[in-house]
Amino acid sequence: MLQPLTKPSLIDDAVFFLQSRLQGAVIIPEDHRYDRARQAWNLSVDQQPALIVVPKTAADVVEAVRFARHEGFSIAVQATGHGNVRPADDCLLILTSDLQGVEVDAQAQTAWVEAGVKWEKVLAKAQAVGLAPLLGSSPDVGAVGYTLGGGMGWLARKYGLSADSVNTFEVVTTDGQLRRVSATENSDLFWGLRGGGGSLGIITGMEIKLYPVTTVYGGNLFYPIDQAKAVITHYREWLPLLPDELTSSIAIMNFPPIPDVPEFLRGQSFVMVRGCYTGPVEQGEALLDYWRSWQAPVIDDFKVLPFTQSAAISNDPVDPIGAQSNGAWLRELSNEAIDILIERINPANGSPLAFIEVRHAGGAMTKPQASAYSNRSETLSLQMVGAVFSPEGHQALLTYMNETKQALQPYLSGRVYMNFLEGKVSQEQIRNGYAPEAYERLTQLKAKYDPDNVLAYGFNIQPARK
Ligand SMILES: Cc1cc2nc3c(=O)[nH]c(=O)nc-3n(C[C@H](O)[C@H](O)[C@H](O)COP(=O)(O)OP(=O)(O)OC[C@H]3O[C@@H](n4cnc5c(N)ncnc54)[C@H](O)[C@@H]3O)c2cc1C
Repeated sequence: MLQPLTKPSLIDDAVFFLQSRLQGAVIIPEDHRYDRARQAWNLSVDQQPALIVVPKTAADVVEAVRFARHEGFSIAVQATGHGNVRPADDCLLILTSDLQGVEVDAQAQTAWVEAGVKWEKVLAKAQAVGLAPLLGSSPDVGAVGYTLGGGMGWLARKYGLSADSVNTFEVVTTDGQLRRVSATENSDLFWGLRGGGGSLGIITGMEIKLYPVTTVYGGNLFYPIDQAKAVITHYREWLPLLPDELTSSIAIMNFPPIPDVPEFLRGQSFVMVRGCYTGPVEQGEALLDYWRSWQAPVIDDFKVLPFTQSAAISNDPVDPIGAQSNGAWLRELSNEAIDILIERINPANGSPLAFIEVRHAGGAMTKPQASAYSNRSETLSLQMVGAVFSPEGHQALLTYMNETKQALQPYLSGRVYMNFLEGKVSQEQIRNGYAPEAYERLTQLKAKYDPDNVLAYGFNIQPARK
């Protein structure tokens, strides 16, 4: 019997047409490049987009958005896959990895950064002319995604959030328009993109301010885990003494028993004082005397660091891994809160957490700005991270993190820092990421710029009802 003729589906014709209009690539599930393209840095993310567009230009992004609207697709955006909120299933995924331009203007102390660029590239180009961007702990993270959520790094107390240092965004909104967005052009959208995440438009590039930082005094003091209570209490008492030039954190780390970890750390736990000081070295050393004259650490690697090597402070993983992050703002590091943190990270109690870190915020981050970012008066950012090896392990980790937050409830402010939330937790906690009036304003912006919630894979902001 003759097989009925299979007519090419509308989507096949349409994809062919889309490809003909792009400089970049369209990748469909049958394409050998599909599995690589859909992979996020975070290996716990398994996403199956209906198709993937890899734009080479802002005009390609416009074409992709118009195509998605015409064909009825939702749109997800990914640069590196470090911060997935919702897997890009059954949608059009715009993978910005080929938008790789970085232009540094040494005179103006600014950089133009395209959407697919990781911080490491901006850092290298800026440092070549004695300037620094406000990157975070890992230069492997995408500059734009980081900035859309606020962006709190090792220079944050001195120079503020990365979002505070944006001069201009170039954005494609879901009506297919390419817009310049700044304090004077589309200023409502400028307010929303500075901290409000990627659900209001697709950024194709941004101009950011750079700062004159070439060396810092930074590193870690490692103390034995059995001194964790005394060390964290001592840290709490240090904080009111600190100038804005020092951004610091306290972390408890369970180093995994794997060959990649240096032998003296392998399978061990430590409590670590971390920091980055941007003033004269002698003053940085004087600040560290507080610790060195108190108790000698097991390892003291604070030193003068070229800012190009600032990644050494946190030593975040670069190779893709399965991981889950969760966090909240702590109201205080009370004795009880410290006890809970120590108990919940202890592998002897069955803890699946790899590390817990409390970052000291404040300083320049408290300066009022026209931006959606709403956590300016918060000072202690708690983040927990665990490795994910299986869906069951992932679920157990999520439960453990939720229980940890429950136990800490009396000491939490009720707010969350959106950049440290991932997946369902990010979706569920969105209202706690913002002051109520800021969240309300974001929903109104969403209603104006994306009323059909086409960008449904970034921060979970729903359009305000008319
Ligand atoms: C190892 C590690 C270290 C980190 N360190 C810090 C830190 O020190 N400080 C801090 O604040 N955060 C930090 N983060 C969190 C990080 O900033 C967020 O996960 C951020 O979202 C990552 O951006 P990305 O583009 O690399 O990731 P992606 O997963 O590619 O993107 C994350 C989200 O950003 C949005 N997005 C990305 N590009 C665009 C675009 N062009 N247009 C619109 N939306 C877009 C999308 O909604 C996307 O879902 C860290 C994360 C990791 C994994």
